[in-house]
Amino acid sequence: MKAPRRFLILTLLLLGSAALAAERPNIVFVFSDDHATQAISAYGGPLAEIAPTPHLDAIAAEGMLFRRCMVTNSICGPSRATILTGKYSHKNGFFQNEHTRFDGSQETFPKLLQKAGYETALIGKWHLASDPTGFDHWDILPGQGSYYNPDFINPDGKYRVEGYVSEVVTEKAKDWLKTERDPEKPFILMVQHKAPHRAWEPAPKYLSAFDEVTIPEPDTLFDDYSGRGTAARDQDMSISKTMTMRDLKLKNLDETGQFIERVYNRMTPVQQAEWDAAYEEKNQAFAEAKLEGDELIRWKYQRYLKDYLRCIKSVDDSIGELQEFLEGAGLAENTVFIYSSDQGFYLGEHGWFDKRFMFDESYRTPLLVRWPGVVEAGSVNSDLVSNLDFAQTFLDIAGVENPAGMQGASLVPILKSGTPDDWRSSHYYHYYEYPGWHMVHRHEGVYDGRYKLMNFYDLGEWELYDMETDPQELVNQYENPEYAEVRAGLHEELTRLREQYEVPENEVQDLTNVDMHYHSTEIQKRGVERRKMLEAKKEKK
Ligand code: CA
Repeated sequence: MKAPRRFLILTLLLLGSAALAAERPNIVFVFSDDHATQAISAYGGPLAEIAPTPHLDAIAAEGMLFRRCMVTNSICGPSRATILTGKYSHKNGFFQNEHTRFDGSQETFPKLLQKAGYETALIGKWHLASDPTGFDHWDILPGQGSYYNPDFINPDGKYRVEGYVSEVVTEKAKDWLKTERDPEKPFILMVQHKAPHRAWEPAPKYLSAFDEVTIPEPDTLFDDYSGRGTAARDQDMSISKTMTMRDLKLKNLDETGQFIERVYNRMTPVQQAEWDAAYEEKNQAFAEAKLEGDELIRWKYQRYLKDYLRCIKSVDDSIGELQEFLEGAGLAENTVFIYSSDQGFYLGEHGWFDKRFMFDESYRTPLLVRWPGVVEAGSVNSDLVSNLDFAQTFLDIAGVENPAGMQGASLVPILKSGTPDDWRSSHYYHYYEYPGWHMVHRHEGVYDGRYKLMNFYDLGEWELYDMETDPQELVNQYENPEYAEVRAGLHEELTRLREQYEVPENEVQDLTNVDMHYHSTEIQKRGVERRKMLEAKKEKK
């Protein structure tokens, strides 16, 4: 009698653990670089009809779309570090892209998932300078990576793959799912695209997409920055002044030779021929037209947006292919599929490209979650969520306990049943990279879903926006007496959040000695004038 009973118990235990393993869902996290919500048709807006994203929209239709996913620090590396650690930049040590290496010895969600029995894989863009830690499998693009015939690095070294980066990354992800993963374990697969990062080089098959259409211009394409402080005026990220010949694919006009050296020479002769067939005639027409002033800006905007949206088409294809693969492999039902980007981006709003500012277009990032049987299809959420919450969300999905020190909150309760009563009612932001590319002044701020307070502490300037009456953020209401109460409330909230997140005191920088080598010539001149003015002010004191 004894032996069969022992056998029965063992069988039950095995069945139990198998059931438990089956209950733990897989996670596929597809992550892109600089993808603005304005360029996902599920989010609506003027680009939705011209540049639909059917596969991303399908994720939203079958899952949840988050309208207010705010980043902690709107720039590539810092956003990635926040996602891995569940911590603000001042806690994970990765404040800015330049001169920073991610400290991979710290606690991250992939390490915790690994400990909990998950298989962890990372494919594509990493951009944190140090080698990835906490992954059973990694195969990444070095630095920013290349669009055409990209190099990859894995633990065995560096090698080149012929093809277009978004397609190669997708193929690698499918290969890992098909042949390399351990089918006995639940997994997290992070598929991290380079696209649609600058310099927006489209796939061969999309080089002529949008040729026949005119992209609608944003209302603020010709913004003069009146009504706001110094920072909006002082940046170096405008379509009119900052965009280069390389960005615009004007290879014959690129005096730096960067396009030929870094982009064109990487291509195969066939790719070069396809590229030239798509651009040369249009470039010739541009050269002959000798555009100036607003007309030149309009032309640049069209070229920029079309190339950006062409890159998005490949990202959208990747989503479709991965979904199709998961379905074919019988994995879709037990896999949480998540799409996001490291931050948003300016698609000509305020006359800009790039990110960094706490203004809406780059502060907000897309977040779509499909979780069959858990998330109600077609749901839309407007809570203040953040990339700060991703780590704890992944851990919660896997049933791993919330580790001490992470600063966000799991989104699983929101995904399952709606907003918890104690959900955050405001969000803290902090950008640090100055001086640096695009010269956006350092700032911190608080956003409560309607009002936004920004503190450009090096400039001694505060800005306050009312997103309800002024969604384009054109009028700084900080000194408006009608907003006195709102202003006081936001100051209080900022102080509270700084305490909650243990933000160190802001050290104000002496701007008179700022290295100006990043600036384009025109902005350098303005910087010199500004420096003289500051020096004169100092002398007066
Ligand atoms: Ca980015």
